Amino acid sequence: MPMDSHCKPWRRNAAAVIVNKDGKILLGKDAGKNPFWHFPQGGVMKNEDIDHALAREVWEEVGIRPADYIIQSQLDGLKYTYPSSHRKSVRWVGQDQTYFLLFCKKDSLNINLSRSPEIVKAKWFDLKDVNPSLFPKFKRQVVRHVLKAFFSNTPQSPSLKKLSVMPSPSNSPSSPIDKYLIAPGKKFMLKNHSPEDRSLYLGSKEESLIEFDKLRNELQELQKKLFANGKHKILIILQAMDAGGKDGCVKHVFSRIDPQGLKVIPFKKPTEEELAHDFLWRIHKEVPGNGQIVIFNRSHYEDIIAVRVKKLFPDAVWKRRYRFIQDFEEMLADEGTVIIKIFLNISKAEQKIRLDSRLQSPDKLWKFQMDDLDDRNRWDEFQDAYHDLIQATSTEKSPWYIIPGDRKWYRNLIVARLVIEKLKSLNMSYPRPTFDPTTIKIPD
Ligand code: ATP
Ligand code: MG
Repeated sequence: MPMDSHCKPWRRNAAAVIVNKDGKILLGKDAGKNPFWHFPQGGVMKNEDIDHALAREVWEEVGIRPADYIIQSQLDGLKYTYPSSHRKSVRWVGQDQTYFLLFCKKDSLNINLSRSPEIVKAKWFDLKDVNPSLFPKFKRQVVRHVLKAFFSNTPQSPSLKKLSVMPSPSNSPSSPIDKYLIAPGKKFMLKNHSPEDRSLYLGSKEESLIEFDKLRNELQELQKKLFANGKHKILIILQAMDAGGKDGCVKHVFSRIDPQGLKVIPFKKPTEEELAHDFLWRIHKEVPGNGQIVIFNRSHYEDIIAVRVKKLFPDAVWKRRYRFIQDFEEMLADEGTVIIKIFLNISKAEQKIRLDSRLQSPDKLWKFQMDDLDDRNRWDEFQDAYHDLIQATSTEKSPWYIIPGDRKWYRNLIVARLVIEKLKSLNMSYPRPTFDPTTIKIPD
């Protein structure tokens, strides 16, 4: 793609076909004189993810946030050429379009158009009324193609990519956070997961803190129910490169939870006694019981990652551990444990900043270890090892999420949303008493 945009001035563009609960489609009319309608859309900025561009444009043009929609399909590689009259005023030949089909969960009446001067009017159209003649001539071919791909019942065009949204173990419907989910068997490249991504929150950091505060209260309430019910066990596994933010994430996201229902277990280099046992010995002892949340700060995954990269044992040892871990986690899940596996994904540049700051502040210096520099020198090997590990151990019952980690506030927000979503999907309520409380009088 960069090659293409370098040689030919095609502008990358993200467009949103937004469908609401009634099956209606949102079109906007621009401020100019022309009588045409268009889908909310806009150009991708330099170094921007296409999903981010989509989220930004949809927010700016029609005031719908990523939390309010679900991406259902994606159609890449459509092009429309600007008419020659147009070309004189812009430096692009045309637009290289990616169309997204979005399901809007928000009530249509709340659409807010005040944010962008580009759209002066918006309207929800019946699908049958959306036809290419509503659009400028040079877009009609693409519009025809998109409507056919997204809405015809005939077999879909080969370039239509149904996003692989995997139902979570509880079969909850897909959610925006699934963009960070690595579905079992899905091929992915770690370098395509931007540590700076923030496409699920478009406001500022300061604005996000208001939501984050509410989320922490929500998490507190859910944990009370979890504890009161005593039926489910929650295991959160946090992995990251050094200074990847595991401690900060635990501290911020879970700070309001009743300490009686939460255990955080850091796994450091194994002791002699631990090494004298199988690698899951020290792990299995710590898994949650009913009503508990346990967070693993590093985990049995070190027995693959650290062992592989630091060459602590022969390769055959860590290679066979993929299978043992899959079986172990499957057993835990089948016995009633909800497993949430999170890789906090930071960039090498951000790691440098954080290690530097450990060296510079007396209250962080104790965290700095000479080993960290050795590990940093092996950055690429760690990245490869993480890639292979996530690919091999993301399973239906315990999938991995790769959460962008460079912005601490965004990471916290998304981890909080993710954990809340998993807890909510358990549909918990407080246990019903076996007596009628109104008939009971506490003696004086
Ligand atoms: P931070 O991310 O803040 O630096 P940390 O998790 O790295 O915190 P440390 O005490 O600095 O905490 O390091 C723990 C070390 O223990 C890591 O280098 C990790 O690779 C190592 N470790 C954990 N489990 C194992 C294991 N099973 N085998 C080998 N090394 C392990
Ligand atoms: Mg460390």
